[in-house]
Amino acid sequence: MLPHECLIILYHRISNNPNYYNQLNVSTFNFENHIRYLSENFEIISLQDLLKSKESGNIPPKSIVITFDDGYADNFHNAKGILEKYSAPATFFVSTGNIDTKELFWWDLIELGLFTNKKSSVEVHLNLHQKNYLWKLSREPFDINSFINISDFLKTLNSSDLRSATDQLKKQFILDKSVFEYYRCLTSDEIKEIAKSALFEIGSHTSAHTSLAAETDNEQIFQIKNPKELLEKIIGKGVRSFSYPFGTLNDFSSNTIKHLRDQGYITALADIQGNVSLMDDNFKLPRRYICNWDEINFKNYIQTFFLVG
Ligand SMILES: [Zn+2]
Repeated sequence: MLPHECLIILYHRISNNPNYYNQLNVSTFNFENHIRYLSENFEIISLQDLLKSKESGNIPPKSIVITFDDGYADNFHNAKGILEKYSAPATFFVSTGNIDTKELFWWDLIELGLFTNKKSSVEVHLNLHQKNYLWKLSREPFDINSFINISDFLKTLNSSDLRSATDQLKKQFILDKSVFEYYRCLTSDEIKEIAKSALFEIGSHTSAHTSLAAETDNEQIFQIKNPKELLEKIIGKGVRSFSYPFGTLNDFSSNTIKHLRDQGYITALADIQGNVSLMDDNFKLPRRYICNWDEINFKNYIQTFFLVG
């Protein structure tokens, strides 16, 4: 890693529930080991401090920014306390469509629909714009390609088609509602509690969690503006940071960035692999995805980015 570079890391869920396919979950035990290791060996800075140091041309050496995407309730129940224990700042990017509801994201519906029922396979039927789609998902043996195919398809949908698809999924799966609690999103009270701490920042991750590239211009503006206003109302302070759902360069455009600027955001984080350097555009900041690694694997992964400088 060169001098004046920073690493932004990305988590989703912190919980002790089983990981099935999506690999979004890090156990509380592994998470605490990650944060302890980082706090003992690196400078964990807030996203806002990274932006300030970037502006002044002086990113602190060995600096790391911690972020969370999607807004799972376990961020409040499991991650917050560990971050506070090590005085580690973090930014939580919340997708606001499921706040104060018991609705689940589509990737969790599919995962639970396959892995928590008694059958070893399930069929998924969707009808969109008079067209029929069918996927056969198998758990034993696990058919990863079908899982990827349906996920890739759902990632291309705009928010109105995704709403229809999610409603159809909910009707097809026999889901054990008791596990919903573990997959639910933050409530407004939980968001408010997180935002009370000076260590934490709340950012926006759209309302519908669709690829913004799939949306019309007007819908993009809604998906950028509405969650900002809602979150600001909940926490009583400004929301200036954004992260792109799915986050690849194909999931947003220069038009998206224009809308973000127009709505008062000062930064947007992507899911592009890389370190942040002084040259990086604040609306395309790269991040590195963290998996449920034990301390040794996490350490090895992080150290590969800090071999120089
Ligand atoms: Zn996301």
